[in-house]
Amino acid sequence: MKQAVLTSPETITFSEIDKPVIKPNEILMKVKNIGICGSDIHAYYGKHPFMSFPIRLGHEMAGEVVEVGSEVKGINVGDLVTAMPQEFCHECEPCKSGRYNICDTLEVIGCQTPGAACEYFNVDSALIKKIPDGMSARIAATIEPAAVGVHAVRRSGSVKGMNVVVMGAGTIGNVTAQAAMAEGAKSVLITDFSDYRLELAGKCGIPHTANTGKVSMQDAIKEAFGGEGADIFFECVGIGATVNQAIECSKKGHDIVIVGVYGTTPEINMAWVQDREFRLIGSLMYVEKDFQDTIDYMAAGKINMEPLVSKVFKFDEYQEAFKYIENNKDESLKILIEM
Ligand SMILES: [Zn+2]
Ligand SMILES: [Zn+2]
Repeated sequence: MKQAVLTSPETITFSEIDKPVIKPNEILMKVKNIGICGSDIHAYYGKHPFMSFPIRLGHEMAGEVVEVGSEVKGINVGDLVTAMPQEFCHECEPCKSGRYNICDTLEVIGCQTPGAACEYFNVDSALIKKIPDGMSARIAATIEPAAVGVHAVRRSGSVKGMNVVVMGAGTIGNVTAQAAMAEGAKSVLITDFSDYRLELAGKCGIPHTANTGKVSMQDAIKEAFGGEGADIFFECVGIGATVNQAIECSKKGHDIVIVGVYGTTPEINMAWVQDREFRLIGSLMYVEKDFQDTIDYMAAGKINMEPLVSKVFKFDEYQEAFKYIENNKDESLKILIEM
């Protein structure tokens, strides 16, 4: 079978290898779609702190089951499936408390172990989720990033009845805003410097959008929520400026959830965090309940990923897809590869 391996910065090398032989607990999928995400792009340029060359990427995937191991139950040949890409130890303190997304020895498929950038991919059946009827393989490949949003909105407890601000309207910001609506937020404001991305957020049903390159965050909040103000902030950009903006605009005693990935260590206004009893809460990936609920939200139309699929490339064009993203940063939300 054909596989694509990132062998050095900006170099994807195709090669022929044997089709995997599955273990009794595994299934074999014929990969249909994989997604390219921010961490793949960091890896592509050799800038990912926890990834090294060579690596076969692909942690966002959808495929059709073509073989089922002898111990696997409830999954059949022909099923359209996706996989939760987390390999964890089941033994450490986070794992034992159900928070395996922060397992002490977490390995992510396509980041630390070989991913789905290949024609046939073997996966532990415990990581497999079936795709509901009517959902395409393309959309199924976007479940993984959507689940990041669902987990994020659950990190401070519940957003029910709250006025929510999401900073950053890229894929993760967008899905966080959609997840907040799905989880019963009173209203959601999403902010960005890109009118294009804000327009997409509007298409996904997010009630309030504001270009904070043109209006102040304070005015945007007043416009969206009137005198009520914002009850919680989700920082989905990954820079210090937006964290500090959240700190400046938050009501006392409220939460700021950190979803963005930081390339550098920013200076944060900790004096206000202390004085106003803010909680800064981190969020990483998701656990199984988040993932399954994401599938259900997408099937029910409560999270709409269609507008986020910016472009689909053929497997042979994998390298071109990365070049496209480089040249079209603003317009590249979710880029998919089709096998
Ligand atoms: Zn991803
Ligand atoms: Zn663990």
